[in-house]
Amino acid sequence: MNKFGKLYLCPTPIGNLGDMTFRTLETLKAVDLIAAEDTRNTLKLLNHFDIDVPMTSYYEHNKAQKGGVLMERLKNGANIALVSDAGMPAISDPGEDLVRLCIQEGVEVVPLPGPSAFTTALVASGMPTGRFSFEGFLTTNKRNRKNHLNEVKDDTRTLIFYEAPHKLIYTLEDMLEVLGDREIVLARELTKKFEEFYRTTISEAIDHYSSTPPKGEFVLIIKGADPERIEEERKATLPTPEEMLKELSGSMRGKELTNYVAEKLDLPKREVYDIYLKIKNDL
Ligand code: SAM
Repeated sequence: MNKFGKLYLCPTPIGNLGDMTFRTLETLKAVDLIAAEDTRNTLKLLNHFDIDVPMTSYYEHNKAQKGGVLMERLKNGANIALVSDAGMPAISDPGEDLVRLCIQEGVEVVPLPGPSAFTTALVASGMPTGRFSFEGFLTTNKRNRKNHLNEVKDDTRTLIFYEAPHKLIYTLEDMLEVLGDREIVLARELTKKFEEFYRTTISEAIDHYSSTPPKGEFVLIIKGADPERIEEERKATLPTPEEMLKELSGSMRGKELTNYVAEKLDLPKREVYDIYLKIKNDL
């Protein structure tokens, strides 16, 4: 048995301090060090809960170097709590790399359940929750943003995105262009005084936020692609049975050909065979 310490992933409230869990509080009080994304922010939280434990920073731009430092401490037996700016560490937050490093080096990672913005938004959105895809933030690069959206365009699961207020309109415009005008729920200021669920369409949201500048933090919950539309589009790109029979008649004949075409076009074998009999002499 090694004498390594453990890394505790400690979720913190996303707006309402009452959402701090007992276990997170106890863990934060008991660890040797707290690694925080924003030490000033976390200090306010620690002061509020009377926690006096040494703190260090671990954020996007120092994580490569700081990961090694924290790993040394863990290997020397220190227990460390990882805290992000708000919500669940390692979800669209630094933390993922540190977790991986711990696993590689045999350091135990202990996740504590607690607030996370996207689950909080999803459950009250009214959108299907059975299957969903969490997509995090779109990048700032225009082409990569469109590529990201194109990747999920035909996904029938509910889509979840994070967005900052100053980029909201651009994001909605890109979404309208790539995904089409879908139902959307904009979950804003969750757990805070001005919590709001705006259930609308992407185009109406653009109209609304063009005249009322968006404020606060947003989770965007978007209806997945319509399976019927996907099927219609798929069918529209398929060749006709006649075209496919002609194209493949050089390499196959008779039942082998018609069965193959029927399977590829998802048509009854008999139907394709009848077509084959009609055009057989022209093949
Ligand atoms: N790790 C956090 C989580 O999932 O719990 C998310 C951190 S990410 C850097 C910050 C984003 O989460 C914000 O830009 C916003 O999209 C979302 N978010 C955080 N708090 C929120 C809140 N109170 N209401 C709505 N969205 C929130």
